[in-house]
Amino acid sequence: MTTEQATSRNDTLFARAQLTTPGGVNSPVRAFRSVGGTPRFITRALGPHFWDADGKRYIDYIGSWGPAILGHARPEVVSAVQAAAANGLSFGAPTEGEIEIAEEICRLLPSIEQVRLVSSGTEATMSALRLARGATGRDKIVKFEGCYHGHADSLLVKAGSGLLTFGNPTSAGVPEDFVKHTLVLDYNDVAQLEDAFATMGDEIACVIVEPVAGNMNLIRATPAFLQSMRDLCTKHGAVLIFDEVMCGFRVGLQGAQGMYGIQPDLTALGKVIGGGMPVAAFGGRAELMQKMAPIGPVYQAGTLSGNPVAVAAGMTTLKLIQEAGFYERLSATANRLVAGLTDAAREAGIDFCGDAVGGMFGMYFSKEIPGSYSEMMAGDKERFNRFFHGMLDEGVYFAPAMFEAGFVSIQHDDAAIDETIEAARRVFKRIG
Ligand code: PLP
Repeated sequence: MTTEQATSRNDTLFARAQLTTPGGVNSPVRAFRSVGGTPRFITRALGPHFWDADGKRYIDYIGSWGPAILGHARPEVVSAVQAAAANGLSFGAPTEGEIEIAEEICRLLPSIEQVRLVSSGTEATMSALRLARGATGRDKIVKFEGCYHGHADSLLVKAGSGLLTFGNPTSAGVPEDFVKHTLVLDYNDVAQLEDAFATMGDEIACVIVEPVAGNMNLIRATPAFLQSMRDLCTKHGAVLIFDEVMCGFRVGLQGAQGMYGIQPDLTALGKVIGGGMPVAAFGGRAELMQKMAPIGPVYQAGTLSGNPVAVAAGMTTLKLIQEAGFYERLSATANRLVAGLTDAAREAGIDFCGDAVGGMFGMYFSKEIPGSYSEMMAGDKERFNRFFHGMLDEGVYFAPAMFEAGFVSIQHDDAAIDETIEAARRVFKRIG
Protein backbone atom coordinates (compact mmCIF):
# COMPACT_ATOMS: atom_id res chain seq x y z
CA MET A 1 0.00 0.00 0.00
CA THR A 2 1.47 3.40 -0.90
CA THR A 3 1.49 6.31 1.51
CA GLU A 4 -1.09 8.17 -0.56
CA GLN A 5 -3.51 5.26 -0.47
CA ALA A 6 -2.77 4.75 3.19
CA THR A 7 -3.71 8.30 4.10
CA SER A 8 -6.80 8.68 1.96
CA ARG A 9 -9.41 7.74 4.53
CA ASN A 10 -7.46 9.58 7.21
CA ASP A 11 -7.62 12.68 4.99
CA THR A 12 -11.36 12.29 4.54
CA LEU A 13 -11.95 11.87 8.24
CA PHE A 14 -9.69 14.79 9.09
CA ALA A 15 -11.55 17.07 6.69
CA ARG A 16 -14.86 15.94 8.18
CA ALA A 17 -13.64 16.30 11.77
CA GLN A 18 -12.60 19.89 11.17
CA LEU A 19 -16.18 20.83 10.34
CA THR A 20 -17.47 20.09 13.83
CA THR A 21 -14.39 20.02 16.04
CA PRO A 22 -11.83 22.86 16.32
CA GLY A 23 -8.76 21.73 14.41
CA GLY A 24 -10.37 18.33 13.97
CA VAL A 25 -9.05 17.02 17.28
CA ASN A 26 -10.03 16.91 20.93
CA SER A 27 -6.52 17.57 22.25
CA PRO A 28 -4.14 19.87 20.33
CA VAL A 29 -1.02 17.73 19.94
CA ARG A 30 -3.03 15.11 18.04
CA ALA A 31 -3.41 17.56 15.14
CA PHE A 32 0.17 17.08 13.80
CA ARG A 33 0.61 20.89 13.70
CA SER A 34 4.25 20.60 14.74
CA VAL A 35 5.20 18.00 12.13
CA GLY A 36 2.65 18.80 9.43
CA GLY A 37 0.49 16.31 7.55
CA THR A 38 -2.67 14.42 8.32
CA PRO A 39 -3.30 12.89 11.73
CA ARG A 40 -4.02 9.18 11.67
CA PHE A 41 -7.49 8.18 12.81
CA ILE A 42 -7.19 5.04 14.89
CA THR A 43 -9.67 2.22 14.61
CA ARG A 44 -8.24 -0.43 16.92
CA ALA A 45 -5.19 -1.40 18.93
CA LEU A 46 -3.65 -4.58 20.26
CA GLY A 47 -0.43 -5.10 22.22
CA PRO A 48 2.26 -2.74 20.84
CA HIS A 49 0.31 -1.92 17.66
CA PHE A 50 -2.55 0.16 16.43
CA TRP A 51 -4.25 0.44 13.06
CA ASP A 52 -5.48 3.53 11.28
CA ALA A 53 -8.61 4.13 9.24
CA ASP A 54 -6.89 2.76 6.13
CA GLY A 55 -5.98 -0.47 7.86
CA LYS A 56 -2.28 0.45 8.12
CA ARG A 57 -0.55 -1.00 11.17
CA TYR A 58 1.82 1.03 13.33
CA ILE A 59 4.13 0.16 16.19
CA ASP A 60 2.82 2.59 18.79
CA TYR A 61 5.31 4.58 20.87
CA ILE A 62 2.87 7.03 22.44
CA GLY A 63 0.74 4.48 24.27
CA SER A 64 -2.13 6.96 24.64
CA TRP A 65 0.50 9.42 25.97
CA GLY A 66 1.54 7.12 28.77
CA PRO A 67 -1.34 5.04 30.11
CA ALA A 68 -0.88 1.97 27.86
CA ILE A 69 1.98 0.49 29.90
CA LEU A 70 0.52 -3.02 29.53
CA GLY A 71 0.08 -2.64 25.78
CA HIS A 72 -3.31 -2.22 24.18
CA ALA A 73 -6.42 -4.24 24.92
CA ARG A 74 -4.80 -6.41 27.56
CA PRO A 75 -7.37 -9.19 28.13
CA GLU A 76 -7.37 -8.93 31.96
CA VAL A 77 -8.09 -5.20 31.78
CA VAL A 78 -10.75 -5.59 29.11
CA SER A 79 -12.48 -8.31 31.18
CA ALA A 80 -12.39 -6.18 34.32
CA VAL A 81 -13.95 -3.28 32.43
CA GLN A 82 -16.64 -5.52 30.92
CA ALA A 83 -17.48 -7.01 34.31
CA ALA A 84 -17.72 -3.58 35.95
CA ALA A 85 -19.78 -2.15 33.09
CA ALA A 86 -22.26 -4.99 33.36
CA ASN A 87 -23.03 -3.78 36.90
CA GLY A 88 -23.75 -0.21 35.85
CA LEU A 89 -21.61 2.60 34.52
CA SER A 90 -21.78 5.22 37.24
CA PHE A 91 -23.62 5.68 40.53
CA GLY A 92 -22.60 9.01 42.03
CA ALA A 93 -22.28 7.15 45.33
CA PRO A 94 -19.22 5.44 46.80
CA THR A 95 -18.06 1.95 45.84
CA GLU A 96 -15.67 -0.57 47.38
CA GLY A 97 -13.50 -0.40 44.25
CA GLU A 98 -12.58 3.19 45.12
CA ILE A 99 -11.34 2.08 48.54
CA GLU A 100 -9.30 -0.71 46.99
CA ILE A 101 -7.50 1.50 44.48
CA ALA A 102 -6.88 4.15 47.17
CA GLU A 103 -5.40 1.48 49.46
CA GLU A 104 -3.21 0.21 46.63
CA ILE A 105 -1.90 3.69 45.77
CA CYS A 106 -1.16 4.43 49.45
CA ARG A 107 0.62 1.09 49.81
CA LEU A 108 2.78 1.60 46.73
CA LEU A 109 3.69 5.25 47.36
CA PRO A 110 4.56 5.75 51.04
CA SER A 111 4.40 9.56 50.77
CA ILE A 112 0.66 9.20 50.14
CA GLU A 113 -1.40 8.54 53.26
CA GLN A 114 -4.67 9.69 51.74
CA VAL A 115 -5.74 10.14 48.17
CA ARG A 116 -8.63 11.71 46.27
CA LEU A 117 -9.62 10.29 42.86
CA VAL A 118 -10.39 12.62 39.96
CA SER A 119 -10.80 12.07 36.22
CA SER A 120 -7.85 13.86 34.59
CA GLY A 121 -4.31 14.92 35.34
CA THR A 122 -5.38 18.53 34.98
CA GLU A 123 -7.89 18.11 37.80
CA ALA A 124 -5.26 16.41 39.92
CA THR A 125 -2.66 19.18 39.66
CA MET A 126 -5.26 21.96 39.81
CA SER A 127 -6.71 20.50 43.01
CA ALA A 128 -3.27 19.90 44.51
CA LEU A 129 -2.46 23.57 43.92
CA ARG A 130 -5.69 24.67 45.56
CA LEU A 131 -4.94 22.45 48.53
CA ALA A 132 -1.41 23.84 48.82
CA ARG A 133 -2.75 27.38 48.72
CA GLY A 134 -5.55 26.58 51.12
CA ALA A 135 -3.21 24.88 53.57
CA THR A 136 -0.54 27.59 53.56
CA GLY A 137 -2.75 30.65 53.11
CA ARG A 138 -0.27 31.80 50.43
CA ASP A 139 -0.88 32.54 46.73
CA LYS A 140 2.46 32.25 44.94
CA ILE A 141 3.47 29.05 43.22
CA VAL A 142 6.69 27.99 41.52
CA LYS A 143 6.81 25.94 38.34
CA PHE A 144 9.56 25.20 35.85
CA GLU A 145 9.82 26.11 32.21
CA GLY A 146 9.03 23.16 29.97
CA CYS A 147 7.09 21.24 32.61
CA TYR A 148 3.45 20.72 31.70
CA HIS A 149 0.91 20.16 34.43
CA GLY A 150 -2.34 20.23 32.50
CA HIS A 151 -4.33 23.26 31.46
CA ALA A 152 -5.45 24.93 34.71
CA ASP A 153 -5.16 28.72 34.44
CA SER A 154 -2.37 29.16 37.00
CA LEU A 155 -0.25 26.59 35.20
CA LEU A 156 -0.55 27.77 31.60
CA VAL A 157 2.47 29.94 31.95
CA LYS A 158 5.12 29.15 29.38
CA ALA A 159 3.83 25.60 29.67
CA GLY A 160 5.30 22.79 27.57
CA SER A 161 3.72 20.09 25.42
CA GLY A 162 0.89 21.23 23.11
CA LEU A 163 1.51 24.86 23.83
CA LEU A 164 5.13 24.53 22.91
CA THR A 165 4.06 22.97 19.70
CA PHE A 166 2.14 26.09 18.82
CA GLY A 167 4.94 28.31 20.03
CA ASN A 168 2.71 30.27 22.43
CA PRO A 169 4.25 31.22 25.73
CA THR A 170 0.80 31.43 27.38
CA SER A 171 -2.80 30.72 26.41
CA ALA A 172 -5.28 33.43 25.54
CA GLY A 173 -8.03 33.60 28.11
CA VAL A 174 -5.81 33.20 31.14
CA PRO A 175 -6.20 36.32 33.29
CA GLU A 176 -3.01 38.20 34.09
CA ASP A 177 -4.24 38.24 37.66
CA PHE A 178 -3.87 34.45 37.88
CA VAL A 179 -0.54 34.26 36.16
CA LYS A 180 1.08 36.93 38.27
CA HIS A 181 1.16 34.44 41.12
CA THR A 182 3.09 31.85 39.11
CA LEU A 183 6.86 32.09 39.10
CA VAL A 184 8.45 30.17 36.20
CA LEU A 185 12.03 29.07 36.83
CA ASP A 186 14.55 27.06 34.81
CA TYR A 187 14.52 23.31 35.28
CA ASN A 188 17.59 21.90 37.01
CA ASP A 189 18.74 25.38 38.10
CA VAL A 190 19.37 25.10 41.85
CA ALA A 191 20.76 28.63 42.21
CA GLN A 192 17.63 30.20 40.74
CA LEU A 193 15.43 28.20 43.07
CA GLU A 194 17.50 29.27 46.06
CA ASP A 195 17.23 32.89 44.93
CA ALA A 196 13.46 32.63 44.62
CA PHE A 197 13.11 31.29 48.14
CA ALA A 198 15.59 33.80 49.52
CA THR A 199 13.53 36.62 48.00
CA MET A 200 9.99 35.46 48.69
CA GLY A 201 10.16 32.18 50.59
CA ASP A 202 7.39 33.13 53.02
CA GLU A 203 4.98 33.89 50.16
CA ILE A 204 5.40 30.63 48.24
CA ALA A 205 2.53 28.17 48.68
CA CYS A 206 4.12 25.38 46.68
CA VAL A 207 6.63 24.19 44.16
CA ILE A 208 5.25 21.91 41.47
CA VAL A 209 7.59 19.86 39.33
CA GLU A 210 7.70 16.90 36.98
CA PRO A 211 10.52 15.01 38.74
CA VAL A 212 11.21 13.23 35.46
CA ALA A 213 10.03 15.69 32.84
CA GLY A 214 8.21 14.23 29.87
CA ASN A 215 6.72 17.30 28.27
CA MET A 216 9.91 18.86 26.97
CA ASN A 217 10.98 15.57 25.48
CA LEU A 218 12.43 13.46 28.31
CA ILE A 219 14.58 15.37 30.78
CA ARG A 220 15.73 13.98 34.10
CA ALA A 221 15.90 16.19 37.13
CA THR A 222 19.29 16.10 38.81
CA PRO A 223 19.15 14.64 42.34
CA ALA A 224 20.58 17.93 43.66
CA PHE A 225 17.74 19.91 42.05
CA LEU A 226 15.01 17.80 43.67
CA GLN A 227 16.80 17.64 47.01
CA SER A 228 17.23 21.41 47.16
CA MET A 229 13.54 21.77 46.34
CA ARG A 230 12.67 19.41 49.19
CA ASP A 231 14.93 21.23 51.63
CA LEU A 232 13.75 24.72 50.65
CA CYS A 233 10.06 23.78 50.84
CA THR A 234 10.55 22.26 54.29
CA LYS A 235 12.54 25.26 55.52
CA HIS A 236 10.00 27.83 54.26
CA GLY A 237 6.80 25.93 54.98
CA ALA A 238 5.91 25.50 51.29
CA VAL A 239 4.25 22.39 49.90
CA LEU A 240 6.30 20.27 47.49
CA ILE A 241 4.11 18.79 44.75
CA PHE A 242 5.50 16.08 42.51
CA ASP A 243 3.49 15.91 39.33
CA GLU A 244 3.83 12.21 38.59
CA VAL A 245 0.88 12.12 36.22
CA MET A 246 3.26 10.90 33.54
CA CYS A 247 6.22 9.41 35.39
CA GLY A 248 4.25 7.77 38.23
CA PHE A 249 4.23 3.97 37.79
CA ARG A 250 6.02 4.61 34.49
CA VAL A 251 9.63 5.05 35.60
CA GLY A 252 9.26 2.41 38.31
CA LEU A 253 6.78 0.98 40.80
CA GLN A 254 7.50 3.74 43.32
CA GLY A 255 7.54 6.44 40.67
CA ALA A 256 10.16 9.16 40.50
CA GLN A 257 9.87 9.70 44.25
CA GLY A 258 11.04 6.14 44.85
CA MET A 259 13.76 6.41 42.24
CA TYR A 260 15.23 9.59 43.78
CA GLY A 261 14.38 8.70 47.37
CA ILE A 262 12.68 12.06 47.92
CA GLN A 263 9.23 12.38 49.47
CA PRO A 264 6.96 15.16 48.24
CA ASP A 265 4.13 16.52 50.38
CA LEU A 266 1.60 15.98 47.61
CA THR A 267 1.67 13.85 44.47
CA ALA A 268 -0.48 14.14 41.34
CA LEU A 269 -1.10 10.89 39.48
CA GLY A 270 -2.91 9.98 36.27
CA LYS A 271 -2.34 8.03 33.07
CA VAL A 272 -1.12 4.56 34.23
CA ILE A 273 -3.43 4.52 37.28
CA GLY A 274 -6.40 4.55 34.91
CA GLY A 275 -5.03 1.92 32.54
CA GLY A 276 -6.43 3.91 29.59
CA MET A 277 -9.61 5.05 31.32
CA PRO A 278 -10.15 8.48 32.92
CA VAL A 279 -8.67 8.07 36.40
CA ALA A 280 -6.26 10.47 38.04
CA ALA A 281 -5.59 11.32 41.67
CA PHE A 282 -3.82 13.57 44.10
CA GLY A 283 -2.69 12.55 47.52
CA GLY A 284 -0.19 13.06 50.28
CA ARG A 285 0.19 13.45 54.00
CA ALA A 286 -3.09 12.83 55.83
CA GLU A 287 -2.79 16.09 57.75
CA LEU A 288 -2.83 17.97 54.42
CA MET A 289 -5.46 15.81 52.72
CA GLN A 290 -7.77 16.28 55.71
CA LYS A 291 -8.13 19.88 54.60
CA MET A 292 -10.20 18.70 51.62
CA ALA A 293 -14.00 18.90 51.52
CA PRO A 294 -16.17 17.41 52.94
CA ILE A 295 -14.12 17.53 56.16
CA GLY A 296 -11.93 20.53 55.39
CA PRO A 297 -12.29 23.98 53.82
CA VAL A 298 -10.71 23.25 50.40
CA TYR A 299 -13.46 22.46 47.90
CA GLN A 300 -13.14 19.94 45.09
CA ALA A 301 -15.63 17.51 43.53
CA GLY A 302 -16.46 15.46 40.43
CA THR A 303 -19.59 13.79 39.02
CA LEU A 304 -17.57 10.91 37.56
CA SER A 305 -14.72 10.86 40.11
CA GLY A 306 -13.89 7.28 41.05
CA ASN A 307 -16.05 5.97 38.22
CA PRO A 308 -16.44 2.22 38.77
CA VAL A 309 -15.60 1.15 35.22
CA ALA A 310 -12.52 3.38 35.07
CA VAL A 311 -11.40 2.26 38.53
CA ALA A 312 -11.69 -1.39 37.44
CA ALA A 313 -9.29 -0.71 34.55
CA GLY A 314 -6.92 1.18 36.83
CA MET A 315 -6.91 -1.36 39.62
CA THR A 316 -6.26 -4.25 37.24
CA THR A 317 -3.42 -2.29 35.68
CA LEU A 318 -1.88 -1.53 39.08
CA LYS A 319 -1.97 -5.25 39.93
CA LEU A 320 -0.37 -6.35 36.65
CA ILE A 321 2.53 -3.90 36.83
CA GLN A 322 3.53 -5.58 40.09
CA GLU A 323 4.38 -8.87 38.38
CA ALA A 324 7.95 -9.95 39.10
CA GLY A 325 10.49 -8.40 36.74
CA PHE A 326 7.96 -6.06 35.09
CA TYR A 327 10.02 -2.86 35.32
CA GLU A 328 13.29 -4.62 34.55
CA ARG A 329 11.76 -5.84 31.30
CA LEU A 330 10.18 -2.49 30.53
CA SER A 331 13.47 -0.63 31.11
CA ALA A 332 15.43 -3.16 29.09
CA THR A 333 13.03 -2.65 26.18
CA ALA A 334 13.31 1.15 26.29
CA ASN A 335 17.11 0.97 26.62
CA ARG A 336 17.36 -1.46 23.73
CA LEU A 337 15.29 0.84 21.55
CA VAL A 338 17.36 3.91 22.41
CA ALA A 339 20.66 2.08 21.88
CA GLY A 340 19.49 0.75 18.50
CA LEU A 341 18.27 4.15 17.31
CA THR A 342 21.50 5.79 18.43
CA ASP A 343 23.60 3.24 16.53
CA ALA A 344 21.49 3.63 13.43
CA ALA A 345 21.84 7.43 13.54
CA ARG A 346 25.59 7.16 14.04
CA GLU A 347 25.88 4.93 10.98
CA ALA A 348 24.12 7.63 8.97
CA GLY A 349 26.31 10.38 10.45
CA ILE A 350 23.42 12.15 12.17
CA ASP A 351 23.73 14.02 15.47
CA PHE A 352 21.36 12.08 17.66
CA CYS A 353 21.23 10.76 21.18
CA GLY A 354 18.64 9.21 23.45
CA ASP A 355 17.79 8.52 27.05
CA ALA A 356 15.36 6.21 28.82
CA VAL A 357 13.97 5.99 32.34
CA GLY A 358 11.81 2.95 33.01
CA GLY A 359 9.26 2.80 30.20
CA MET A 360 9.80 6.42 29.05
CA PHE A 361 12.35 7.48 26.48
CA GLY A 362 13.65 10.61 24.80
CA MET A 363 15.11 11.07 21.31
CA TYR A 364 17.16 14.19 20.69
CA PHE A 365 18.50 15.48 17.40
CA SER A 366 21.48 16.99 19.17
CA LYS A 367 24.95 15.88 20.25
CA GLU A 368 24.13 15.78 23.95
CA ILE A 369 21.18 14.88 26.13
CA PRO A 370 19.48 18.15 27.16
CA GLY A 371 19.10 19.11 30.81
CA SER A 372 16.70 22.03 30.41
CA TYR A 373 14.01 23.44 28.18
CA SER A 374 16.37 25.76 26.31
CA GLU A 375 18.85 22.96 25.66
CA MET A 376 16.02 20.77 24.38
CA MET A 377 14.78 23.56 22.11
CA ALA A 378 18.21 23.78 20.51
CA GLY A 379 17.63 20.35 18.89
CA ASP A 380 17.16 20.04 15.12
CA LYS A 381 13.37 20.24 14.83
CA GLU A 382 13.35 20.16 11.05
CA ARG A 383 15.29 16.90 11.02
CA PHE A 384 13.05 15.44 13.72
CA ASN A 385 10.03 16.22 11.55
CA ARG A 386 11.54 14.41 8.57
CA PHE A 387 12.42 11.50 10.82
CA PHE A 388 8.90 11.43 12.21
CA HIS A 389 7.28 11.27 8.77
CA GLY A 390 9.80 8.74 7.48
CA MET A 391 9.05 6.48 10.43
CA LEU A 392 5.32 6.99 10.05
CA ASP A 393 5.57 5.80 6.45
CA GLU A 394 7.49 2.78 7.73
CA GLY A 395 4.66 1.99 10.15
CA VAL A 396 6.23 3.37 13.34
CA TYR A 397 4.24 5.96 15.27
CA PHE A 398 6.34 8.26 17.43
CA ALA A 399 4.91 11.34 19.15
CA PRO A 400 4.13 13.97 16.51
CA ALA A 401 6.32 16.68 18.07
CA MET A 402 9.95 16.95 19.10
CA PHE A 403 8.84 18.14 22.55
CA GLU A 404 7.31 14.87 23.68
CA ALA A 405 8.68 11.81 25.43
CA GLY A 406 8.05 8.36 24.01
CA PHE A 407 6.63 5.30 25.75
CA VAL A 408 7.11 1.57 25.44
CA SER A 409 4.73 -1.02 26.82
CA ILE A 410 5.46 -4.43 28.25
CA GLN A 411 4.12 -5.84 24.94
CA HIS A 412 6.89 -4.21 22.88
CA ASP A 413 8.78 -7.42 22.24
CA ASP A 414 12.14 -7.91 20.52
CA ALA A 415 10.43 -8.20 17.14
CA ALA A 416 8.76 -4.79 17.51
CA ILE A 417 11.98 -3.14 18.66
CA ASP A 418 14.05 -4.77 15.89
CA GLU A 419 11.51 -3.74 13.29
CA THR A 420 11.67 -0.17 14.60
CA ILE A 421 15.47 -0.04 14.52
CA GLU A 422 15.60 -1.47 11.00
CA ALA A 423 13.09 1.13 9.85
CA ALA A 424 15.10 3.88 11.58
CA ARG A 425 18.24 2.70 9.79
CA ARG A 426 16.52 3.26 6.44
CA VAL A 427 14.99 6.58 7.47
CA PHE A 428 18.20 8.03 8.98
CA LYS A 429 19.98 7.23 5.70
CA ARG A 430 17.29 9.08 3.76
CA ILE A 431 17.40 12.19 5.97
CA GLY A 432 21.17 12.18 6.61
N1 PLP B 1 0.77 16.51 34.32
C1 PLP B 1 1.61 15.91 33.47
C2 PLP B 1 3.02 15.66 33.87
C3 PLP B 1 1.16 15.50 32.21
O1 PLP B 1 2.00 14.91 31.37
C4 PLP B 1 -0.18 15.74 31.87
C5 PLP B 1 -0.70 15.35 30.54
O2 PLP B 1 0.02 14.98 29.65
C6 PLP B 1 -1.02 16.36 32.79
C7 PLP B 1 -0.52 16.72 34.01
C8 PLP B 1 -2.46 16.63 32.46
O3 PLP B 1 -3.15 15.43 32.41
P1 PLP B 1 -4.52 15.32 31.59
O4 PLP B 1 -4.18 15.44 30.15
O5 PLP B 1 -5.07 13.98 31.99
O6 PLP B 1 -5.40 16.45 32.06
